Amino acid sequence: TTSTLGELDRRYVFHPFTAAGAHERDGGPAMIVSGSGSTLTAADGTTYLDAMAGLWCVNVGYGRREIADALQSQALRLPYYHGFSSMATDQPALLAERIIRLTGDLGMSKVFFGSSGSDANDTQLKLVWHYNNLLGRREKKKVIARSRGYHGVTIASASLTGLPAMHAQFDLPLPMIRHVSPPYALWEKQPGEDDAAFVARLADELEQRILAEGPETVAAFIAEPVQAAGGVIPPPDGYFPAIQAVLRKYDVLLIADEVVSGFGRLGAWFGSHLLGIEPDLMTIAKGVTSAYVPLSGCVVSDRVWEVLARDGGAFQHGYTYSAHPLAAAAALANLDLVEHGGLIEQAARRGERLRAELHAAFDGHELVGEIRGIGLVAALEFVAERGERPVRFDPALAVGARITRACLEHGLITRALPAADTISFSPPFTITEAEIDTIVTVAREAVDQVADELAR
Ligand code: PLP
Repeated sequence: TTSTLGELDRRYVFHPFTAAGAHERDGGPAMIVSGSGSTLTAADGTTYLDAMAGLWCVNVGYGRREIADALQSQALRLPYYHGFSSMATDQPALLAERIIRLTGDLGMSKVFFGSSGSDANDTQLKLVWHYNNLLGRREKKKVIARSRGYHGVTIASASLTGLPAMHAQFDLPLPMIRHVSPPYALWEKQPGEDDAAFVARLADELEQRILAEGPETVAAFIAEPVQAAGGVIPPPDGYFPAIQAVLRKYDVLLIADEVVSGFGRLGAWFGSHLLGIEPDLMTIAKGVTSAYVPLSGCVVSDRVWEVLARDGGAFQHGYTYSAHPLAAAAALANLDLVEHGGLIEQAARRGERLRAELHAAFDGHELVGEIRGIGLVAALEFVAERGERPVRFDPALAVGARITRACLEHGLITRALPAADTISFSPPFTITEAEIDTIVTVAREAVDQVADELAR
């Protein structure tokens, strides 16, 4: 029964990112038991419209038979074998070719597979260190990330993540990791500063940081094309070309973390295509399988591979589940749906509608400091005072979390992003126009409800 399931969950499951005892106090989480399209159903029969596609990942929507069938036939034919040394399986070979083809003119040549975005970013650091060791540059090991970036939770990837809450319990970041400012116009742009001046200032900050560290010690810079979990922060025009010019000057590799942006979320195959990024390494996960099963990868450029292959030695790294054939089979079926179903164009169109409706519903709203979005990802940021010098809410008011909770009470799943009063929307690419109308209507009711509570 529903209450037995809830009891088992409360007793035995150690939930990620969940306050100890929270479920005892609030009666337990919604127990999701099925999904179809953009709708989830809980054990007690409640349905939810999932405006977050899980965690920015179920891009083709729930319940796609094509992926289930691919998983079943692969599980019966060959559920597992590894790809270490003299062995290989067929699905990862087909998938790697597909991924390299989809990266188009980005100059990519090889895929190293893992299971999560976090492990893939860990692997990226090892790749970068190995690369510099092969070049005889043993001092060139530091990696620069950005505040508010999200790159995962392993010891290295949590270090790259630029959210203090992810560091405090563990004495992170690791000593070779640095952070610079994100292109977060609402809070980082100075009054009167235009985009070009803002970009120039951020590029200069990066250059000064590299010079202060010593360019001979800085190996790589990692960035999401659009910071997702840190607040949905699209960069201003010209940001990546300016950043890249600095990186090239000091021979620093660029890792594009495409875990959210890859495979269509921004209305293009990769964020790198859309934003003029020329990555040396790309991290992929989430949308490669639409999260039907875990799969991640480090996509390695020709120029990096050329160095890695130079001494003919092995990269001393690999997971039991690297190049898992079931995951690769699911990915191929998923990419068929995205590619042959026109889902990237659809994501772009639905994203335009979502942004237009958010503007219609929230422009000028007393609580809304900014409406941001690109492709099919969008956010509302709430502020205590609007204007050229906005003022944040007292974090104790937990405004973003309250609005997300109010949405949930009305059957809508959104996400309150950490350390900011921002809620995000990142629905499946298959979301219908009517469902977008519902997202915006319910979000408006929830925001008004919390505005009323705050005014009391
Ligand atoms: N990189 C980015 C940009 C992400 O958004 C995430 C997760 O949200 C990760 C890496 C970490 O991926 P995972 O949770 O699969 O370890």
